[in-house]
Amino acid sequence: MLINKRFTFIFYKSLQSAKKLIFLYRFYSISKFGIALILGFNITCESDQIMNWLAILELHSILAYFYYTKLYQSLNNIEIVFEIADSLNHAIQFEEGHFQPQPQENQPFEFVVTTNQDPNIFMSFEETERRQLILTEQIKSEVAQRNRTIRCVHYFNALLNQALIFWAFYIQMIMEPLDACYYNLATFQKMFLIISLYQYWEGYILCLILLISLPFILLMILWNKLKQQKQNYENQQILNELIKKQKVIYQNDNIQGDQECGICLQVYSRNEELLILPCNQQHHFHMHCIKAWLILNFSCPKCRSKINEIRNAQETSIL
Ligand SMILES: [Zn+2]
Ligand SMILES: [Zn+2]
Repeated sequence: MLINKRFTFIFYKSLQSAKKLIFLYRFYSISKFGIALILGFNITCESDQIMNWLAILELHSILAYFYYTKLYQSLNNIEIVFEIADSLNHAIQFEEGHFQPQPQENQPFEFVVTTNQDPNIFMSFEETERRQLILTEQIKSEVAQRNRTIRCVHYFNALLNQALIFWAFYIQMIMEPLDACYYNLATFQKMFLIISLYQYWEGYILCLILLISLPFILLMILWNKLKQQKQNYENQQILNELIKKQKVIYQNDNIQGDQECGICLQVYSRNEELLILPCNQQHHFHMHCIKAWLILNFSCPKCRSKINEIRNAQETSIL
């Protein structure tokens, strides 16, 4: 493959900040692991719950370290970086002729960066900054999506982190405030909570909005249900009235228009019960056919006029 591709300035910058961020998370994971280990050995008060919390946190930290290391390695692999750039549809320019030596595996590589031809370079500083932030996030999620195992580890670890957050809240609540032997642990847990909540801030805000809007959504659903029931009841009343007035027992020639039912298309036979709809004297159907139809749709199958609207119009004209 060609490695003498040129990255645009923005992509290069974003890639660097994505790597920096991932490196930071990696450092955070290993520090968490170290501190939890030291605390575990130094806490003198006996508490199974706190020991379990620390143990799960160690597992979580190791998984996170593995995850971020894998991501970091991927971003140092030039072929993967090219694939990411391609899938983000980011402009990479080719430069024929100037081949560079193939970088060794897992070794940091040098990018060729264009600055003179890069159209992005003429943007304002704020715009460059904004685009760089977005692209950094995109590169991060692209590299995380590339491998199924990595993805699974990530989701599992995110769940574990949520559990640890709530568990830490719980431990903070039941802990005696002046318990000297838990003093360091309490500080550590508070730091953990702050950083973890910051990491998942957007997700929490989304959940909060959903939670707040849930009662309104339920009320709306309930309101619509009630309205529907009221409508059904009214339709039933109108239908009963209609049957009283417009029911016809078919005798060879006592109706206008086609001598067949517009729903089942069967020719009427003697003594069958029919209903003539108020829209038109020629719109008549078998009683059982039109009853089944009106449950689904309260309008005439032939001309589509709404039965309740016709009835209301007739009532006002009589008045
Ligand atoms: Zn019919
Ligand atoms: Zn009709």
